[in-house]
Amino acid sequence: MKTKIAVTIGPSSCSVETVKAMALAGASAFRINFSHGSRDEWLKFVKVVREVEDEVGLHLALIGDLRGPSVRIGDLDEPVRLRAGDEAYLVLADRLPGGSDKRIPISNKSILGKFREGHILLMDDGRVVLRVLEGGRDKIALKALTDAIITSRKNIVIQGKDLELPTITEREIEAVRFAVQENFDYIGLSYVRGAEDISMLKGMLLSLGAKDVGIIAKIETPTAVKRLEEIIDSADVILVARGDLGMYFSLEEIPRLQERIVNLCIERGKPVIIATQILGSMIENPIPTRGEIIDVVSAIKQGVDVLMLTGETAIGKYPVEVVKWLSKIIETYEPDIIPQKRRKLRDGDVRDRFAYGVVSLAESLDAVIGVYTRSGKTAMRIASFRPKCRIFSASNSKRTLRKLALIWGIEAIMVSSKDYEEGLNELQSKIEKLIGKGIMVLTYGLREEVLHTVRIIQSRAFGS
Ligand code: PGA
Ligand code: MN
Repeated sequence: MKTKIAVTIGPSSCSVETVKAMALAGASAFRINFSHGSRDEWLKFVKVVREVEDEVGLHLALIGDLRGPSVRIGDLDEPVRLRAGDEAYLVLADRLPGGSDKRIPISNKSILGKFREGHILLMDDGRVVLRVLEGGRDKIALKALTDAIITSRKNIVIQGKDLELPTITEREIEAVRFAVQENFDYIGLSYVRGAEDISMLKGMLLSLGAKDVGIIAKIETPTAVKRLEEIIDSADVILVARGDLGMYFSLEEIPRLQERIVNLCIERGKPVIIATQILGSMIENPIPTRGEIIDVVSAIKQGVDVLMLTGETAIGKYPVEVVKWLSKIIETYEPDIIPQKRRKLRDGDVRDRFAYGVVSLAESLDAVIGVYTRSGKTAMRIASFRPKCRIFSASNSKRTLRKLALIWGIEAIMVSSKDYEEGLNELQSKIEKLIGKGIMVLTYGLREEVLHTVRIIQSRAFGS
């Protein structure tokens, strides 16, 4: 499969058996959402993923997703159930009983002061809609506009409005430290507002000696959409967070937003993930809806790198089946689809133009591509042109191979060599073992050397 699958681990999917079954069904990246659960639980998830990785012999990316500047309600002993038209209250508290008591806790005082009469509040990917009847310092009166079941720690947003909150709090710093200690491959930055948020995280990673951890910028708010270009240029990977986007914008805007973000990423050669409600109905049901299948196929056509499952695998009833369904759809349609690809670059970076040349050469020879890469960047550049042929990418760095689990079309291969020419020899024999004889175009990233090798191997001629 060229389009990759990422899953979110949660209560439904934290056992070795489930993670293993998901990996064997095609999931190559595993997200732990730091908004939920405790450090001990996260540690357990990490151990499970790494154990499975060893067992199945694949390279799996581990993503730690920071909560970012979002507002969450506090804990409820029981869900608050509301009917459309009911009145409820947001009150300053960490924890409340819920049930017939229609008070919803929120622990941050400065946030309470920001809710104004007439604001529309959304929770739970937009399933819960409330209107503010009256603001106040310690208590906000609300009216439910839909029937709603409100459970602990749900995200809450004001439609169309970004709240000014600090991006990195003490809690985030702890989570970043944890992710670095536990060798996460990517960190997801929620509610990114601009390039400065990404620089701040980069600085933190640098000071922790972890500059090779990738940064995934999650596009969730109007501010991020406004500053899309600078965010795309400074992050390593972009995520289209359809859940939050659908709360800040009208739902019918989602296709337009997704298309715009994905197109801009493809144009600039930046890997892009789409997330949330990919096969959302499978949280409850063993099969997806027709509409969901069509949505997945259109994402493959758009050329996205990754489809990310969220609630489906974190809290759904069918965490393994949903991955199998996604693989089945991808495998059924990919052979016939020519995904949207980056256009030929007239000027621009010479390394990009080199990658374009390698892709053209391989395609015209009907060859496979083999690339030896230390950081993964050359492999990513080649993948950004979405070649028809297979792309094998070798590295002696586990981190690099794991990071490539999020990149369209890349098949990662471990080699022991640190030397470029020797690395190509090793890669060649590994590709031959995998696919037998054929034509290969082998190379490595363009460096500042006088001589650069692009090898063409025609093992078919010797064998036949
Ligand atoms: P979340 O992000 O699951 O962390 O909220 C994805 C989204 O908003 O779609
Ligand atoms: Mn989100």
